[in-house]
Amino acid sequence: MALVVYNTLTHEKEPFVTIEPGKVRMYVCGPTVYDEAHVGHAMSSIVFDFVRRYLEHQGYQVRHVMNFTDVDDKIIARAAQIGEDPSAIARRYVEQYQEQLSRLNVLQPTVFPRVSQTIPEIVRMVAGLVESDHAYITASGDVYFRVRTDPDYGKLSRRKLADALAGTRVASSEEKLEEEDFALWKAARPGEPSWDSPWGRGRPGWHIECSAMSLHYLGDQIDIHGGGNDLVFPHHENEIAQTECFTGKPFARYWMHNGMLQLKGEKMSKSLGNLVTIDELLAAHDADVFRMIVAGSQYRKPLAFDADVLVDGERALARLRTALRPATGPVTTGPAVDALAGQVRQSRIAFEAAMDDDFNTAGALAALFDLVRAINTARDAGVAAGQSIAPFVELLLTVRLELRKAQQWALADKIRDELKVLGVVVKDTAQGSSWRMD
Ligand SMILES: [Zn+2]
Repeated sequence: MALVVYNTLTHEKEPFVTIEPGKVRMYVCGPTVYDEAHVGHAMSSIVFDFVRRYLEHQGYQVRHVMNFTDVDDKIIARAAQIGEDPSAIARRYVEQYQEQLSRLNVLQPTVFPRVSQTIPEIVRMVAGLVESDHAYITASGDVYFRVRTDPDYGKLSRRKLADALAGTRVASSEEKLEEEDFALWKAARPGEPSWDSPWGRGRPGWHIECSAMSLHYLGDQIDIHGGGNDLVFPHHENEIAQTECFTGKPFARYWMHNGMLQLKGEKMSKSLGNLVTIDELLAAHDADVFRMIVAGSQYRKPLAFDADVLVDGERALARLRTALRPATGPVTTGPAVDALAGQVRQSRIAFEAAMDDDFNTAGALAALFDLVRAINTARDAGVAAGQSIAPFVELLLTVRLELRKAQQWALADKIRDELKVLGVVVKDTAQGSSWRMD
């Protein structure tokens, strides 16, 4: 069976075929760094970590780009609120998030671009869109994308322009030509970070950064574009519009979106005051507990998260780890071991079949638990065998001790050597002889 991936663009599972054989170009939208990262961020990063690890397991070379939005209204507002420099706040949360990803056992992306370090690429792209009349400059020096120049606009979220507008708020002070147009560049305001551009000093709008970074680090076309499903509209819709109008080519082959983490049935959000930060999570729980919880859920569905879910995660992880206990008895041959060998093969097939079905991690875990059961059964059978031979080994060692007392060395050694052939290792010390199964 070959890998199929659910594509938000087509609403279907499609065979996974990369642009370049053996290589995957994957872009995943990262956080806006203005506050503590929460378990929702952790969930999304773990979902795409599973995707990346499985693709690498399948032999693909994955180039994984994840951005940090380090120039944004929220960062500027936060900076004003606490009287700190916006770039210092951003830097602090970037470093914290990178360290949290390591603690969550998430592989670090190949590249971590930041808006503040990608300004020339962003300016170049905006200029290209202005040149081709997909964007226009206002009297104040803002640059807007002209949505009506893109006949495909709305193809990802399946919204028509009128529907798209229903979700947006437009301030009457803005100089946009059409309500659906969105900002590519915002003219500088006093006290805000700004950079030079052909339209005067200013800073990028939110959406353009991902288009510019993806283009710069991965090329015109990419295999996977990922993010939370709250980004489908307007963020990803706008990314597609910008990139495809700029390059004239289809942007991403597979659009993958994870469901939102929900706390007690509500969407977790800062405004609802029900955030659990990654630091809070990791202070109380093993990172693998949270990875088990994420793996146990279908990534496109909402992940219900509360204290009970954590208890279930703890239990599942403990069960998985029982398979890793060292065997105390002998590793023998016999029906239990034959069954184990069979289960290893079966579990591998079932694991890959599940993962090939749009990264069904819950199905893959079920295959692992079948293997855990077989390992534990084989170990118990081995322990039982070890216990049943103990009286006979003890008897032979008593006889051997008598032989040694009678200086019958050759016979005593023969018993030791024959036991060794049977997998019983005898050790002689000043206190007497001990034995263990090899
Ligand atoms: Zn993005």
